[in-house]
Amino acid sequence: MTVKPKIRGFICTTAHPEGCRKIVKEQIDYVKGAGKVNGPKKVLVIGASMGYGLASRISAAFGCGASTIGVIFDKQGSESKTASAGWYNTAAFEEFAHADGLYAKTINGDAFSADIKNQVIDLIKKDWGKADMVVYSLAAPRRTCADGTVYSSVLKTTGGDYTNRTIDVKNRKLSEVTITPATEDEVTATIKVMGGEDWKEWISAMKAADVLEDGAVTVAYSYIGPEVTHPIYMDGSIGQAKKHLAATAKEISAEISGVSAYVSVNKALVTQSSSAIPVVPLYISILFKVMKEMNLHEGCIEQMYRLFAEKLFGGGVKVDGEGLIRLDDLEMREDVQKNVMALWDKINEENLGECADLDGYERDFNRLFGFDAEGVDYEADVKTDGGIDSLK
Ligand code: NAD
Repeated sequence: MTVKPKIRGFICTTAHPEGCRKIVKEQIDYVKGAGKVNGPKKVLVIGASMGYGLASRISAAFGCGASTIGVIFDKQGSESKTASAGWYNTAAFEEFAHADGLYAKTINGDAFSADIKNQVIDLIKKDWGKADMVVYSLAAPRRTCADGTVYSSVLKTTGGDYTNRTIDVKNRKLSEVTITPATEDEVTATIKVMGGEDWKEWISAMKAADVLEDGAVTVAYSYIGPEVTHPIYMDGSIGQAKKHLAATAKEISAEISGVSAYVSVNKALVTQSSSAIPVVPLYISILFKVMKEMNLHEGCIEQMYRLFAEKLFGGGVKVDGEGLIRLDDLEMREDVQKNVMALWDKINEENLGECADLDGYERDFNRLFGFDAEGVDYEADVKTDGGIDSLK
């Protein structure tokens, strides 16, 4: 069948297999061109099918020559229905990794569950003995705990109501949005989903099963951003979860011997998760405009390659005074933020196109689902029910 985008709000319910494959290949080619990294050799990536997790897996495999196990939570397609984009990304990743003689296996299921943790541990025992790196890159709307309780994360403030401008990129319309404060229960639930508890459960379970090398590294991802996003991000419910994540890194390093845990603060980028946050898409499209003009723009793959090559494995781990890895160093540069804020103050319905990179935002959004890839014939029939090598 031919596959067209079907966008509903913040998600696209279709994905293009050939487009996803092409975009994965572009990321692999970027890493191959950027050069080898003397890094880890057996890397587990939790949340490996999209965004920063996928780019981490590609950087580990094609930059460090690492064997990888990816944990994903994706749906296979049928002859009449497309798979999720993460499914096609993972199928393509394995295809290219195997063609280069790299070990790559995938476990598909809920990373929060004990069952998936046990499956991964058994696989590591059987195939590797031990892992030397664990990337924790989940971005999830909800988590089901062992007792059956389901926690849902919310994207709300924690102070009073907060009103600011946001953008509907598809219709190119600015509007005001008022975000109400999260209740205490909502903040607690958001921390359960997006904080560090599950990360620590993974590392503790792996340590107890003796599947972590002495000197293993684990990293999870966070965001800080400028003041204009603080009410909805850093000071919002998600920010409370990210503070918990940073505290968990310290706990893991202190309590689990032989493991060093880090939080890397990454750049704001268009991913399935970030497009759901009010206000942030407007900030991102202005940021892209500024960073592209200043020749400083990076996507997920440039960020993750830099994490491996410079911040983690480029001769000593580079952290700030609070122990955080700052991959948002370019985004937060004073000159970048000054230019962003000048446009933020000036932007209106009439000058939208001049002040914000809406085309770039929309293109990146489409590309999350395999659309807008160069050289792909979107009028051609494609096979939508392909499998992932290691899951066949
Ligand atoms: P994403 O939506 O692109 O990817 C999230 C991944 O998690 C997907 O592969 C998804 O399938 C997987 N996942 C979700 N629930 C799962 C489950 N229950 N079991 C297994 N896999 C599951 O998100 P992203 O933007 O790459 O986010 C990854 C991390 O990076 C998050 O911690 C996020 O807060 C952080 N981060 C994102 C940005 C940004 O601008 N996008 C910036 C800084 C930090």
